[in-house]
Amino acid sequence: MQAAEDAGPSDAVDFVLENVDLAFANSLRRVMMADLPTVAIDLVQFLENTSVLPDEYIAHRLGLIPLVSANCDEAIRYTRDCTCLRGCSFCSVTLELNVKCEDDTTMEVTSNHLEVVPYVNDDDVDTIDNGDEIAKRSPNFGWPVGKSDDSVPPILIGKIRKGQHIHVRCTAKKGIAKEHAKWSPCSAVSFEYDPHNKLRHTSYWFEQDIKDEWPLSENAKEEEPPRDDEPFDFNAKPNKFYFNVETDGSLGPQEVVMKGLAELQTKLANLILGLKNPDADMDGAGGGAPTWEGAPAGPPTGGGGWGGAPGGGGGGAWGGSASPSRAWGASPRGAGGAASTTAGTSAWGGSTAAWSSSGTSPANSAGAASGGASGWGAGSNAGWGSPAQQTSGWNV
Ligand SMILES: [Zn+2]
Repeated sequence: MQAAEDAGPSDAVDFVLENVDLAFANSLRRVMMADLPTVAIDLVQFLENTSVLPDEYIAHRLGLIPLVSANCDEAIRYTRDCTCLRGCSFCSVTLELNVKCEDDTTMEVTSNHLEVVPYVNDDDVDTIDNGDEIAKRSPNFGWPVGKSDDSVPPILIGKIRKGQHIHVRCTAKKGIAKEHAKWSPCSAVSFEYDPHNKLRHTSYWFEQDIKDEWPLSENAKEEEPPRDDEPFDFNAKPNKFYFNVETDGSLGPQEVVMKGLAELQTKLANLILGLKNPDADMDGAGGGAPTWEGAPAGPPTGGGGWGGAPGGGGGGAWGGSASPSRAWGASPRGAGGAASTTAGTSAWGGSTAAWSSSGTSPANSAGAASGGASGWGAGSNAGWGSPAQQTSGWNV
């Protein structure tokens, strides 16, 4: 990464990523969008709703309100990883909305009416493993973004007239956007490359003159414009990417970029570790059974398609912990939970035996598997675990 600088509002950042390929840049973009945990309202209990809005409508809008989630990695745990029975202050934040319209004008119910309240179910707190999560929270952790800042307009939840009353209790939980978009810290992540279109990845439509009709972006100043007589380079590849990351305020943009890089690194390290030693617990943090296929199976339907069984914690598709951020469900093969939970049928290497935990290396165990010839586990001379790749430095 070459440079990082503030651009415009404090919830956005621009930077240039250089000397990587397009796939890497896109991986970073996707990790920042979908793999970083935040807190969001996940459970809404309606005590009173005499407004014209249905309960489901209000619950949906409450879920989408960004909540301050700074240091979410350490400041709160996933409910499924917690030892409590019904939710506790270590794994959730409780908010209450209690608004009644008393006068003749229409009243706007906004995110500023949401109040964080002490957790009501902490009666079984003795059974909970005490952690230091709460000490790592900022004072406004779990508050709606902008509640403490008069310059930020609140988010409208609904409107009520005289006599109408909305009283709800909400439980906010930690999650990632692979499970539901409400947990995404980003409102937009984009990158541009090749602003002069030298690579001709884009075909511009134009009437008279392409240069007049297609204005160059700001990023074009960073690169040499092509000469008119310059021959087209068929082998050129993009290697400079102009990122723009904008968050919804739940996390700061710097935190999103840094945590995104760390998360990507963790994913790649886990992949390499898993390929080197399929019997090891790839998550390193305990959780599921330390095998590729021996993990407790998620729902037979595949538990939402991402394989991480995010809601139920039925074990990662790759046998890691139930944490979606560490789960292997979003496999590079695109095999969702469905493939993995049915004993790994054709998930990797096209055979149930290809990646089974038989105690041998993936390359060797796959060698005997029928149908595994073209997969990752194919033959002992190919693939990540093979001697050929080890000598060429793939297996670090
Ligand atoms: Zn808990």
